[in-house]
Amino acid sequence: MVAEIIDGKLFSRKLRDQVAEHVTVLKKEHKVTPGLAVVLVGEDPASQVYVRSKGKQTIEAGMNSYEHKLNEDTSEADLLELVNRLNGDDEVHGILVQLPLPKHINEDAVINSIDPAKDVDGFHISNVGLLATGQKSMVPCTPLGCLLMLKGFHGTLAGMDAVIIGRSNIVGKPMAQLLLNESCTVTVTHSRTKNLEEVVGRADIIIAAVGRAEMVKGDWIKSGATLIDVGINRVEGSDGSKRLVGDVQFSSCSQVAGAITPVPGGVGPMTIACLLVNTLVACCRKYKLIEPDIISN
Ligand code: NAD
Repeated sequence: MVAEIIDGKLFSRKLRDQVAEHVTVLKKEHKVTPGLAVVLVGEDPASQVYVRSKGKQTIEAGMNSYEHKLNEDTSEADLLELVNRLNGDDEVHGILVQLPLPKHINEDAVINSIDPAKDVDGFHISNVGLLATGQKSMVPCTPLGCLLMLKGFHGTLAGMDAVIIGRSNIVGKPMAQLLLNESCTVTVTHSRTKNLEEVVGRADIIIAAVGRAEMVKGDWIKSGATLIDVGINRVEGSDGSKRLVGDVQFSSCSQVAGAITPVPGGVGPMTIACLLVNTLVACCRKYKLIEPDIISN
């Protein structure tokens, strides 16, 4: 294997330690404990796992965790009322509504009902606009995690050619804004992109956020490129066993790339660590306290 592994578990452990240290200081010197409220509607098994993991890590970082589990048939009005209550709750500094929501609920309406200062997912239109104009905002957790790993590995990213595969609101688009803010030359590709392999082949940095198992192959990429694999796909092996793979074919890409994130153990752990960072940042901003020097945006 040629590529260096960018170890998301290691990066995220360091990040969580930094958050925990900062929380200890906040509690001791300012008598403030950051609090994160997570709202889950319905029984989606993957969402239940994420919410459990978020709650556990929030507590491990010394913060308060408030979980609100609502039935699948909860009305949009009831969900909006809960969000409104959490907006006014002084103990709650961050609010995360786990997506996807059941089909009868308008996700945009719910996201945009969250107080932007408590929007730790960074999906509120105010935060999207602030990020797009290079202003202080809440930055979506998954792209932020990717960026922190890239900067941790490379230092400066200025001038690098970055190709993002996927244009979703939660990964592809904010990732593009973050990399533009780092002075990369950014190309966003998607399901209608022509000659995808050729475009990907020019990249110094490739962010794969598609949701198609092992789509990016070793012969697509330039020698020495850095690959950040956001995809999480559950596939069945020939023996019937299930395993997780990314959007990047690790076996072939790791022979050509300069650096690569594994799945699992890459972007996933960083996403939750960044949620803790955002909750801490939201709390510091509320009381006008010094923010952790973890993110520059
Ligand atoms: P999405 O379905 O909202 O978007 C997928 C994007 O991929 C779309 O923009 C689409 O145009 C593009 N696409 C689809 N087929 C393509 C093709 N053949 N060629 C090029 N582009 C194509 O997905 P998402 O929410 O952005 O998530 C993407 C993946 O990342 C999923 O596997 C998801 O599970 C994973 N994910 C992981 C984390 C994490 O913490 N690791 C967080 C969010 C999402």
